[in-house]
Amino acid sequence: MPRNTSPEQLAREWRTVCERYTPEVRERVRSTVAAQREALATAFYDQMLLDQAASFFLSDQLVKSRLHTAMQAWLVEVFEAGVNGDFEHIVARQRMVGEVHARIGIPAYLVMRGIRQLDHEIYDLLNGDAHAVQMAAATYVAETTGLAIEIMCHSYSVSHERNARAEESYRMFAMAQDIGAEKERQRAALLDWENQLMFELSTQISAAVNPPEGDGGVQRASPSGGYWPDLPMIAKSEFGLWFLHKAAHAFEGAADIKTIGKQLEEIDELLRPPGPLDASAARTSLSGLMVAVRGRAKTIGFLLEQLFQQASHMESGRDALTRLLNRKYLQVIMTREIDFARKNDSPLSVLALDIDHFKRINDSYGHDAGDVVLQQVAQNLTHIVRSGDYIFRLGGEEFLVVLVDVDSHRCRTIAESIRQRIAAERLQLPNGRAIDITLSIGIATHDGHPDYLRLLKTADDALYDAKNGGRNRVSGGTHGLAV
Ligand code: GH3
Ligand code: MG
Ligand code: MG
Repeated sequence: MPRNTSPEQLAREWRTVCERYTPEVRERVRSTVAAQREALATAFYDQMLLDQAASFFLSDQLVKSRLHTAMQAWLVEVFEAGVNGDFEHIVARQRMVGEVHARIGIPAYLVMRGIRQLDHEIYDLLNGDAHAVQMAAATYVAETTGLAIEIMCHSYSVSHERNARAEESYRMFAMAQDIGAEKERQRAALLDWENQLMFELSTQISAAVNPPEGDGGVQRASPSGGYWPDLPMIAKSEFGLWFLHKAAHAFEGAADIKTIGKQLEEIDELLRPPGPLDASAARTSLSGLMVAVRGRAKTIGFLLEQLFQQASHMESGRDALTRLLNRKYLQVIMTREIDFARKNDSPLSVLALDIDHFKRINDSYGHDAGDVVLQQVAQNLTHIVRSGDYIFRLGGEEFLVVLVDVDSHRCRTIAESIRQRIAAERLQLPNGRAIDITLSIGIATHDGHPDYLRLLKTADDALYDAKNGGRNRVSGGTHGLAV
């Protein structure tokens, strides 16, 4: 039976591994590892750092001390599972670690290298035990860490693939300057194919009604032996090729893509020879085809329109209301900027912004007024920051500003000027009224850690402080590099 990597299955597998060993052996390993966790974590990182590639991720002092602590916790937890039996939890943790590794970009082989050393060190620690216990404990350790790594690697590769796809689609959209022109081109290509097919069909049908001298009705015996013309397959048409190779990839995940793909398949299925037919049966079949294909082509045209509509707003990575970046490319951009900051030793800061009491604006003036406020805040932000910076609308009335090449000191100044500018400006509502609004801002500066989610979390926590501190204020940013 094929192996399944669902969390439930993996938890069962972890249990099976544990059940191969006596509770005494599992407890022996747990207590040994827990007592020596610090030395073991050191051995693990020393081994990894022998590789030059690892030093890029791990040489930073701050990262080192954080990861060292995390590694100790991992050691304790992994072997505690064999005693407390919480296998679902331990599987979930390994998956999460794999995702973190993918985000940071630590290659799986480096982790495996550290683990190999770790297994060896634990084996040495059990040296004073009876031979049978030592052997059992050693295989138990190897099986457990092996399974943990297997789960990590799986979630690593799933997450890695997802990143690669997001990056690719970002690249395609960044390149596709003119979505409008592409839309016209594809609409025309679809129409071309349809015209060609209709021409082919009507020629064939009339030829069947008035067979030319010496010709056998519906022409050309098809490879299947019956009468059937060569019809232009949509998958091979200019439109079909564009759709299958580019659009399906670039708009991946959009619901319409699946539907269009299905229509394409159905059309080509209809166009294939339906089996041996005599001339008259073929003619009836071809007449039916015209109607069936036309209906589907119309659906495709309609869906295509929708797809491009989304593409010019949401799917191009821009939020339809504010024209700011949406969440879709957060990971691609943050990973790239963190990487840039680390490689070039340049500062990087982020602002998490949230409009104060926004719900009240909606409640008092209506949702449309709320929308206008969001647009005006977005416009203000766009004017304040430089063109190399990024502004995201993360959702609702929450924004994220990524300030490249900005240290914690300047970050605070910029945040403060944004706060003051928004507070000072009267925003015009559609009904002629004007209102004042305020923002709460949490700031954070990159501290060398390769995981961008940490940076965002720091800014988020600071935003939370700003809200709790009474709103209309800037919080955070005091603990920049000074750890
Ligand atoms: P706080 O000061 O604590 O941030 O309070 P708040 O009212 O701003 O925050 P809360 O998160 O409770 O409310 C956010 C509201 O934003 C709720 C939601 O209805 C509204 N909202 C979310 N998206 C949109 C949108 O696109 N347009 C409009 N008009 N309102 C939106
Ligand atoms: Mg709010
Ligand atoms: Mg909010």
